[in-house]
Amino acid sequence: MISLGIESTAHTLGIGIVNEKEILADVRDTLKTEKGKGYLPREMFNHHLEKFNELLFKALDEAKIDLKDIDVIGFSRGMGIPNALRVGAFFARYISLTFNKPLVDVNHGVAHIEIGKWLTNSKDPIIVYLSGGNTQIISLVNKRYRILGETEDIAIGNAIDEVARFLNFEMPGGPKIEELAKKGKKYVEMPYSVKGMNLSFSGIVTYVKKLIKEGKYGLEDIIFSFQETIFSMIVEVSERAMAMLEKNEVLLVGGVAANKRLQEMFEIMCKDRNAELKVVPQKYAADNGVMIAINALLAYKHGYSINIENSSIKRNWRVDEVEIIWI
Ligand code: AMP
Ligand code: MG
Repeated sequence: MISLGIESTAHTLGIGIVNEKEILADVRDTLKTEKGKGYLPREMFNHHLEKFNELLFKALDEAKIDLKDIDVIGFSRGMGIPNALRVGAFFARYISLTFNKPLVDVNHGVAHIEIGKWLTNSKDPIIVYLSGGNTQIISLVNKRYRILGETEDIAIGNAIDEVARFLNFEMPGGPKIEELAKKGKKYVEMPYSVKGMNLSFSGIVTYVKKLIKEGKYGLEDIIFSFQETIFSMIVEVSERAMAMLEKNEVLLVGGVAANKRLQEMFEIMCKDRNAELKVVPQKYAADNGVMIAINALLAYKHGYSINIENSSIKRNWRVDEVEIIWI
């Protein structure tokens, strides 16, 4: 069975093709911005529209198949930027209609989780989903990915990018912040904001910007302390979730999972608890079409598809709104 997935929730347009066992194609293109600038929704829309055909045929070439060979088509329906989501949804519906293929709407967050499980052979983890738009501690309970803790304001990736933008770094700013943090040595006290199982990052971003402007501490030390603090907050909440649900596995997913210091901090916590840390391979931590294809295949194999009339995008579609019929 062959599944084609289209990812278009934000800056990346991705097309992936998989069968039950392997990845047949993985093509992506990410919108670039000028230094210090954020993404504009209409620029994402134009980018995805302009790139779609090229990427689709590249993916089909890579997989050595034709559109008629696919069994199911999946698209990321949300959560995401409406202008960006609409492009993927439009082409998915078009292919579904033209080639008479079943259509599966995929939740972007659930897809990040499923590709993480697929690639790391993770079974029943506490999932720590850290990306540009999401920060959630999740576990599967009664066929839903329940959100045990989450950010109350901005996502952790967003917080990192905001500091990076302030420093005029290219977007996404994560790798540059990680590099800079490595050079820091002295910890500067920062606001630490954990409320029960929830987190907050906007206060620390404001504080970091203020410290940078003041120039009292070295930039490397500030960024080091910023990173240490936000990652400690994540590890604390994740550990509490593990203890509460008696889980001995953690799965890190989302773009921020690529950070080596974050992984190291989780390693230390897991070792302490005799638990196992699994991290989605870096290449698949970022947004991609493969994860959408995998999720669509899982759902379709369990009898799920939707009608085009019911396939409008869902900008705020949370992971806990999806019934996980395939587990
Ligand atoms: P996603 O939304 O899942 O595509 O993830 C993108 C987010 O991950 C952006 O906010 C990036 O800045 C962040 N990111 C990527 N690499 C790193 C890294 N090495 N350290 C921290 N954050 C990162
Ligand atoms: Mg994502």
